[in-house]
Amino acid sequence: MKKKVFIIGSGFSSLSAACYLSKNNYDVSVYEKNKTLGGRATQFKAKGFTFDMGPSWYWMPDVFERFFNDFGKTRSDFYTIKKLDPGYRVVFDKKNQIQIGDDLDKIAFEFEKIEKGSGKKLKNFIKKAKNNYELAVNNMLYKMPGKSILELINIDTIFKVNLFFKNIKNDVEKTFKDDRLRSILQFPVLFLGAKPSNTPAFYNFMNYADFGLGTWQPKNGFYDVVRAMVEIGKNNGVKFHTNCDVQKIKVVNSEIDGIVINGEYKKCDILISGADYQHTESLLEKKYRQYSIKYWRNRTWSPSSLLFYIGLNTKLKNLDHHNLFFDTDFNKHADEIYTNPKWPTDPLFYLNITSKTNSHTAPKGHENCFILIPLATDLEDTDSLRDKYFKIILDRLKNLSDNDIEKNIIYKKSYCVNDFKKDYNSYGGNAYGLANTLMQTAFLRPKLQSKKVKKLYFSGQLTVPGPGVPPAIVSGKLVSDIILKNERAI
Ligand SMILES: Cc1cc2nc3c(=O)[nH]c(=O)nc-3n(C[C@H](O)[C@H](O)[C@H](O)COP(=O)(O)OP(=O)(O)OC[C@H]3O[C@@H](n4cnc5c(N)ncnc54)[C@H](O)[C@@H]3O)c2cc1C
Repeated sequence: MKKKVFIIGSGFSSLSAACYLSKNNYDVSVYEKNKTLGGRATQFKAKGFTFDMGPSWYWMPDVFERFFNDFGKTRSDFYTIKKLDPGYRVVFDKKNQIQIGDDLDKIAFEFEKIEKGSGKKLKNFIKKAKNNYELAVNNMLYKMPGKSILELINIDTIFKVNLFFKNIKNDVEKTFKDDRLRSILQFPVLFLGAKPSNTPAFYNFMNYADFGLGTWQPKNGFYDVVRAMVEIGKNNGVKFHTNCDVQKIKVVNSEIDGIVINGEYKKCDILISGADYQHTESLLEKKYRQYSIKYWRNRTWSPSSLLFYIGLNTKLKNLDHHNLFFDTDFNKHADEIYTNPKWPTDPLFYLNITSKTNSHTAPKGHENCFILIPLATDLEDTDSLRDKYFKIILDRLKNLSDNDIEKNIIYKKSYCVNDFKKDYNSYGGNAYGLANTLMQTAFLRPKLQSKKVKKLYFSGQLTVPGPGVPPAIVSGKLVSDIILKNERAI
């Protein structure tokens, strides 16, 4: 008889693990507390608009492709993607804006206009970043389940050790003098969840993901990826259950026995949780938890966010699909996220206008957009604070892009710390897990396999390799590889 694997949550890491294990002949059931699959990447429709709620930057297309190839498929069997040109726009002030083109020559040309000699320096910088990307993705990501420091040491990485002890901020600042160029080159690090000054220089491979591989957009948004993975899982026999809140994990003789879902007990042989790690451990009796409250409290968390999903009955001008508003002090906002947590004095923000590329996500002549302000975790979250920041952003938009949209809003939904906690059982309302700082890299992250409970495993953005959709997909593969190895050894 096939062994029964239960998976808590339906984020990308859970979907990935479900696909790999079902392909290897396990009887897999996924239990998701919410009414839709996809975890933080869920999608909703309202008044003719289709909103992706979570990820919007489709980077590292090679990682997605590799996943589909593992199932004898290719990405294009499921959905189409388009390379964006410009990939994104960075707004420093009304007259001072940079569009990041879809190849390095175009970007170097823009850099050169701002700082003499920077075009050539950029090409050199990206050459090194490419080298790190190839090492990270081809040689490390899939081979590092985070069990021991030895995974990090091989003939290629040994010469890069110094890059783990330098930080990205210094690396960028010693090469580029102009503050605008420095901010652009530090932006990709925000995906890793920490301040550039707290992120090892090795992670500059994200600059290659940005300028080298480019920014892509799936035809129907990020939910195309969720649909594709669910289809692969279903074809291999995975059973997906929504509205299933896992309330308790039962352990007998230090081994997984089963879970309580909506009050009902179900037995399984193996359990993986792709839900937030700290929440999963709270479902266990205290003696089976590996990490204390103090441990979680002392981690560096990725930011939470204040989001507004907006439907407009007009088109927006002077803007692109992805727009970063860096017209305020980057370092001050970062400080208010990580060092002195509070609502930001002058927030940077990101505006996504999905309908610029995918016109079908809004009615004709309308615009589908969302605004994201990164915030410290666990801040007080009230309607009046959300309204206050909405007003600040609308004023900035008006001044910086000549779009006065207040009267054109026909749909608006806000989402913040309390929603992350309620919807995803997210620790402190974090948006994308534990940051990739030096002390939270690889074997220093919470483990994929429980040390206290046999046949209990974890996946997702709080464990290895880290935050973001590509790492979540890899996390599902890493945990499946461990399970297959452990089961073969029995
Ligand atoms: C606003 C936002 C923007 C982002 N932007 C990007 C981006 O542009 N590009 C990118 O690559 N990444 C981005 N990310 C990060 C990316 O979305 C995540 O890293 C990734 O989706 C996390 O996947 P995961 O497998 O860890 O699971 P999650 O998506 O966290 O899913 C966990 C699931 O577990 C479920 N769950 C929790 N508790 C229980 C329970 N008790 N019972 C049953 N189910 C439970 C939750 O409901 C949830 O569905 C963004 C994230 C957010 C929130």
